[in-house]
Amino acid sequence: MHSFQITYRIRPFFPTTIFYQKIHSRHFPARKSQEKKIHFYIFADIFTKTNIYMSGFFGCVSRNECVNEVFYGTDYHSHLGTKRAGMAFYTGKKFVRSIHSLENGYFRNKFEDELPKFGEANMGIGIISDCESQPITITSHLGRYAVVTVARIDNIEELTQELLNDRHHFAELSDSTINATELVAILIGLGNTLKEGIELVQKKVKGSCSMLVLTDHAIYAARDKFGRTPIVIGKNDKGYVCASESSSFDNLGYSHVRDLGPGEIVQMTADGIRVVTPPQERMQMCSFLWVYYGYPSANYEGINVEDSRYRSGAAMARRDVDVEADFAAGIPDSGVGHAVGYSNEKGVPYKRPFVKYTPTWPRSFMPQNQKMRDLVAKMKLLPNEQFTRDQKIVFMDDSIVRGTQLKDNVVKLYDSGVKEVHMRIACPPLVFPCPFLNFSSSRSSFDLYARRIIRDLEGTENLSEEVLQEYVNPDSEKHKEMVDTMRKHLQLTTLKFQRLDDLVDAIGLPKCKLCTHCWDNSSYME
Ligand code: SF4
Repeated sequence: MHSFQITYRIRPFFPTTIFYQKIHSRHFPARKSQEKKIHFYIFADIFTKTNIYMSGFFGCVSRNECVNEVFYGTDYHSHLGTKRAGMAFYTGKKFVRSIHSLENGYFRNKFEDELPKFGEANMGIGIISDCESQPITITSHLGRYAVVTVARIDNIEELTQELLNDRHHFAELSDSTINATELVAILIGLGNTLKEGIELVQKKVKGSCSMLVLTDHAIYAARDKFGRTPIVIGKNDKGYVCASESSSFDNLGYSHVRDLGPGEIVQMTADGIRVVTPPQERMQMCSFLWVYYGYPSANYEGINVEDSRYRSGAAMARRDVDVEADFAAGIPDSGVGHAVGYSNEKGVPYKRPFVKYTPTWPRSFMPQNQKMRDLVAKMKLLPNEQFTRDQKIVFMDDSIVRGTQLKDNVVKLYDSGVKEVHMRIACPPLVFPCPFLNFSSSRSSFDLYARRIIRDLEGTENLSEEVLQEYVNPDSEKHKEMVDTMRKHLQLTTLKFQRLDDLVDAIGLPKCKLCTHCWDNSSYME
């Protein structure tokens, strides 16, 4: 074996190595010549897609008590975060706030017992966060207010220094770093009015920032200036709700009113919605919401997540003229919609060779420790040999971020007797790290599987934009070589990625309204 030749470049991860050796000798005894090179990639790729971070919030202002609405509405955002959660209410006399870690429990279990402490509040906000503790409650010359954000502040160090130079101070700590939501709350306080303060945040933050601000008289909802993350408004006869996702509305008895536009700020009371700052023209909404983040029942900009996944899978099926498969299947959960679309278009059955063990491994359960995450990802999926033995399967997954999770699933398939694995990925290869969302815990480009493959094919880490764009072009020879290298490393029979033009068509918004930066480096920075 050649493993010693490559351990100097990357962190060794012993169990993964053993796993790979097992599949290699069992299923590919003839491929000795590839062993050394493949081994390198498997070693490098110790992360999983479960490192993708987001957050989601919910707010309600009502003529009636609304603690339950905020509690359940926030809980419906559990698929967007696994680390921390919080709620804040204004009871008519005071602000009451609660924050819990979700690292050892679920949102509902953590907050259920303390709901009585929020009294009969009729205004409140809640967040499920993959980042810092929120809501942040502060008192400034504008009065007292609580803030929740779905944000990534790329220039946080620069903004922190600016505030420290002006003798502001920070009281909260998030894993020994500045709490980004506290920074936003302080910036708001620099305005002469809430409107000015929120606009200042929109102007100063590089990255993205959508937020809810709870005051003693209203909730202010402000969408990121380019609309990278969504805010949706709903109503019933008692008041209004605002949320990252519309999925929460139906069961709580609210109907959809509209999505906020990019940069739009509204003031929400039980009597109505008042536009504080109108939306701007330019929008670049995160396409990944439809590909992966969004819950199937959610609508963004009026476009349903599941529906767009069907269209995406169907587009892949139309281009897949040369594959004869026994059936199509999706990696649960977010690969399923794409695979149903593929199966319907292609006219092959949809089957479930993998099922997820949900009774004790719900989708949102994700420990913070990477080794445990890998283990959980493995334990959750159960192969069903009845549907795998000697089968030729077209498998759909939403994306390949770091590659490990997919690799593990392929190992499981071969172990359960699959004859051919034709992997179809519902978005193009991720070549550029996301500068707008907390897409990953690391900021290194080489966490991305595609970027590592390009680095190794080119033999250098200094990759010019020109070179990267050659790999991005799905019709280029370099792109084909990159995909074929991945196919060999992942031990797949065939591998194809969605084309960006087909993905944009499947979502259904004009490309100029979508952020596609992680695939083509094309989005606005300013
Ligand atoms: S770079 Fe990718 S993940 Fe980030 S906002 Fe754009 S589309 Fe979404």
